[in-house]
Amino acid sequence: MSKTEWITQELDGLKQAGLYNTIRTIESPQGAWLMVDGRRVLNFCSNNYLGLANHPKLVEAAQKAVNQMGVGPAAVRSIAGTMTLHVELEKRLAAFKGVEAAITFQSGFTANLATIPALVGKEDVIFSDRLNHASIIDGCRLSGAKIIAYEHNDVQSLEEQIKANLSQYRRALIVTDGVFSMDGDIAPLPEIYEVARKYEILLMVDDAHGEGVLGKGGRGIVDHFGLHGKVDVEVGTLSKAFGVVGGVVAGNAVIIEWLRQRGRPFLFSSAVTVPDAAACLAAIDLLENSTELVEKLWENARYFKAEMKRLGFDTGVSETPITPVMLGEAPLAQKFSRELFEQGVFAMAIGYPTVPKGKARIRVMISAAHSTDDLDKGLAAFQTVGKKLGVI
Ligand SMILES: *Cc1c(COP(=O)(O)O)cnc(C)c1O
Repeated sequence: MSKTEWITQELDGLKQAGLYNTIRTIESPQGAWLMVDGRRVLNFCSNNYLGLANHPKLVEAAQKAVNQMGVGPAAVRSIAGTMTLHVELEKRLAAFKGVEAAITFQSGFTANLATIPALVGKEDVIFSDRLNHASIIDGCRLSGAKIIAYEHNDVQSLEEQIKANLSQYRRALIVTDGVFSMDGDIAPLPEIYEVARKYEILLMVDDAHGEGVLGKGGRGIVDHFGLHGKVDVEVGTLSKAFGVVGGVVAGNAVIIEWLRQRGRPFLFSSAVTVPDAAACLAAIDLLENSTELVEKLWENARYFKAEMKRLGFDTGVSETPITPVMLGEAPLAQKFSRELFEQGVFAMAIGYPTVPKGKARIRVMISAAHSTDDLDKGLAAFQTVGKKLGVI
């Protein structure tokens, strides 16, 4: 037997279980409509909440920056120096979020991998929401700290775990997603903050799906709840609503300074490229100048969800533009997605292990880029397929 035979067997197993991930190829820029595998389809998949991924202002800023500064940063910032664009981006992000300081990373994923091990280690404990994102889980594991999961969005469960365990450890960290990406529900951050304050525990929130979506003009979950100065560490991504790529950690100055000294993806991996940084700066300009896109996003989300409910679909517990369409078993969700594609709608099925078994769904991602006419076309397709498959 060859050394890789076990991998072939595992892959076959995934295919048989309907869990093999087939990735479609997109042949156009991101937007309300996409060319996918040769067809023009309505885009209900991407995290391009504000339509910035192909916004003319961001494209122009990236082109201009490339002409002036080239493409790559060419080395790790802490070794070969950091470009003015990256420094400027961190200053602007801190001001936008109303915090003392910010540091950027290559992605939201690496921001979590950098931050958690810098804050806690082997002698410490992490209280982590059971449904936290994979990058938080990996960051927790990398830290070597004891990981104690509390029940999802359950502050009582969090406090019980703290009471039972805190005294056995040197330091502690509470970490939660801000918006949970599969259900679209929001962490009860004010209540979590009260617990963190009571037990004097560092509080970290990953606001990847709240950045550019929640709060005034998209300033995120801390702004949404009016918790300025109370959350120690706010992680965000520049790859979702910001439409580009990159991660950010915002918070008090001493933590950010510490991450510049001890955040391993900062010390051992290069920064985002020149056009990335320039495009992100243009995104901040847009968000600071107008709340129009964020308002349009929410207006679209409210409309789509209300109409889906009226059609008889179960859209779960979402409080954000993330709209899960609950279907139950994974094969049904996959069939639903294929039928939607036939109707010209690109919306992915999500099943185990991304969501629990029996909770498979289609996840619709609403964007400010959608017109009402686009949403109506999507609703009509859902109605057709829903009736055909006996869901409504
Ligand atoms: C998407 C996401 C990330 C990863 O962000 P990238 O910038 O794409 O690496 C991290 N955390 C959460 C909660 C996310 O939803």
